[in-house]
Amino acid sequence: MNLLTPAKRLLILFLIIFSFSTNVISQTNIELIRLKDGYPELIQSVSSTAITWKDGSQFQVSEPSRLYALMNWIKADSHSKDTITIKDLQCDHYENIFKKMYGHNATEVKKKLVVIYWMQKAFGHKYPLKVTTVNGIDKKIQRISAALENLPQSYWKFVENPGGSFYWRNVKREPYLSAHSFGIAIDINSHYGRYWLWDLQKLKSQFSFLAPVNNIPMKIVQIFEQEGFLWGGRWHFYDTMHFEYRPELFSKESGSQTQYNGQLGLHCVA
Ligand SMILES: [Zn+2]
Repeated sequence: MNLLTPAKRLLILFLIIFSFSTNVISQTNIELIRLKDGYPELIQSVSSTAITWKDGSQFQVSEPSRLYALMNWIKADSHSKDTITIKDLQCDHYENIFKKMYGHNATEVKKKLVVIYWMQKAFGHKYPLKVTTVNGIDKKIQRISAALENLPQSYWKFVENPGGSFYWRNVKREPYLSAHSFGIAIDINSHYGRYWLWDLQKLKSQFSFLAPVNNIPMKIVQIFEQEGFLWGGRWHFYDTMHFEYRPELFSKESGSQTQYNGQLGLHCVA
């Protein structure tokens, strides 16, 4: 027996669509507000349809159609440089935002780089690293470097001989740029890092069977996270030697402490 009249069915359908769209909009607003809070020096304001930069320019925020998403996937290319989609925000794909902030190509990024000597008190000029000055990232990395020097020497082996910083390149096997391209990322000692792809090749296994693994002490992770650097050990596709500046993914708690505020990759599969 059918208990629902056509009018009731229509009402239920409307409520389902309304609750879904409200959810999408509120989710997006949270991500946009985080973006504004994360980059106050560069972003003037955000609305659910646009990001306004302090230089007066605007990014449109759009909901991609299925066809649009498919075309982007086929081209393996980004969309117009002055737009970002809701899907990008939800999947932490901020490439256009990063290009706007740090430089659209290697030449532009290089103009904003400086050399810092990693853990200079401990290692002198042994480890020069190129990092960007945008968003005060060079100063943040110097503070991280000083804090790591103050740890007991038993920790130093994890952070000496760093794997690198600036390097204009795509993420391995992916069509998008690595955070290293913008001078906002550092790899610590690769000898102690675990990378999902290496583990996959070693085990000749499916990724779904890989258990999260880590050798890096959390004391080191916390020092980076307090300055707004996200640890690659928090990704589903883990990379435990990797840290990148992503303040929009942290929430500010009491005092000057920042705390990582969620899990990455929940909404997105690769
Ligand atoms: Zn890295």
